[in-house]
Amino acid sequence: MNEFVQSLSHPSPPPRWLWWMRQLLPPLCWKCGMVLGGKTYLDPASPFLCSDCLIGLPWTDPVYHCRQCGNLTAEPDRLRCEECLEDIWDLDESRSGFAYNDTIRHWILQLKFFGKQHLSPLLGRLLALSFQNSTWLEKYDFLVPIPLHSTRLRSRGFNQSLLLAHHFRKNLGNISPEIHLHWLRRTRATRPQTELPLEERLINLDNAFSALPEVRNRNILLFDDVMTTGSTLNAAARCIKEAGASSVGALVLGRKMWDSFE
Ligand SMILES: [Zn+2]
Ligand SMILES: [Zn+2]
Repeated sequence: MNEFVQSLSHPSPPPRWLWWMRQLLPPLCWKCGMVLGGKTYLDPASPFLCSDCLIGLPWTDPVYHCRQCGNLTAEPDRLRCEECLEDIWDLDESRSGFAYNDTIRHWILQLKFFGKQHLSPLLGRLLALSFQNSTWLEKYDFLVPIPLHSTRLRSRGFNQSLLLAHHFRKNLGNISPEIHLHWLRRTRATRPQTELPLEERLINLDNAFSALPEVRNRNILLFDDVMTTGSTLNAAARCIKEAGASSVGALVLGRKMWDSFE
């Protein structure tokens, strides 16, 4: 894990005055505030987190999760959990970097709702770390972040999924699939699924997306910040498949884990 820590680089520049002050100080862990040994912020290898905080993050176990929906499982290497045996997913597979809780949830909420865009290099870097020595991404041709409807994009000012996808890809090196945001479009504004009763959830995302013909015969990896019910990603996958994609997977930074096996 120390190699991971050494390989972490500094995020996008803080405000100018703070940037100059920080050059004189050793960097602090973004989570616990501990002084990180030796390096200053001038050093491009300056880490974001101390090794204890890095190891303590809620990393998704690469073995104990359902390959289809990404939820945690009691048994290793499950292709489908009990729930996925009943549900019909349009997504072929799903994967997350972290469980959506603790610090990861806090950072995502800060990024999305409090405009803390400087967290995106850290989060993109952490997600890329979970793919070290992994070939999982190789089957995908293109990365398509989930788009925001234009009204939400205007009020937020940025698409957090695009921002995270950019920093994720930047840290992957050679195996990174290209990003194509405009291959998928949000054709109408929808309310968050978690705010709706079940019967409204089922129709809330109908025809919410449209896809360009460029997706035809491609292996597409959808990218989002969070997966809770999975219905948004699944509706996007259905739309892309109807436009002719060969396969559609989903990758998210944080997944809400349901203890369905307990
Ligand atoms: Zn720390
Ligand atoms: Zn499952």
